[in-house]
Amino acid sequence: MSVEERLAEVRQRIRKAAAEADREPDSIELIAVSKTFDAEYIRPVIAAGQRMFGENRVQEAQGKWPGLKQETGGIELHLIGPLQSNKAADAVALFDVIETVDREKIARALAVEMQQQGRTPRLYVQVNTGMEPQKAGIAPDEVPTFLKLCREVIGLSIEGLMCIPPANENPGPHFALLAKLAAENGLDRLSMGMSGDFETAIGFGATSVRVGSAIFGSR
Ligand SMILES: *Cc1c(COP(=O)(O)O)cnc(C)c1O
Repeated sequence: MSVEERLAEVRQRIRKAAAEADREPDSIELIAVSKTFDAEYIRPVIAAGQRMFGENRVQEAQGKWPGLKQETGGIELHLIGPLQSNKAADAVALFDVIETVDREKIARALAVEMQQQGRTPRLYVQVNTGMEPQKAGIAPDEVPTFLKLCREVIGLSIEGLMCIPPANENPGPHFALLAKLAAENGLDRLSMGMSGDFETAIGFGATSVRVGSAIFGSR
């Protein structure tokens, strides 16, 4: 199967999952995760009409996306990997959405850079729904306090929540938890679901799914 065919198939699966969940298919955004793939692999996906992409490393994205963005208008680039505060300036300059805000230091660094650069990438808070020690994200019970800090003290506007469930667990309860936390905190955007579980995530209310290998092939 070509990358165009795989992209079409993923879009079809999103429509089907939306229909099964009684949701509007257009309310679910597809973020094509292009990490580890060079520009030559990404171009056909852009040519097929895809405009939202996800990358997990700032430096890798800097190597390919400024050029790709120049070639085609309307690209929306999402940072979906951990962010170090010394990369905040680069992240604000390149990304349109930063999904991995997960501690005060990063929130403050982003606020400073957004002010200085006059750019306002949309922001998501990453939640460590599985409380995994090695994984980034705010603990679920700290979400209200962290959101309050971001909004009221640091002055950031937060658009939604993002999670990556533990690899070897049923993702459903994690998606349900993220949806509950969002509802309790006045947020209506949920970034959840990857190649292996995006249909499940749509059932639990995902408003964007981050799909890599089902489009680009295995890494
Ligand atoms: C790599 C990655 C994805 C995509 O994973 P696939 O299983 O290839 O679809 C989604 N979200 C995050 C945060 C990732 O790092």
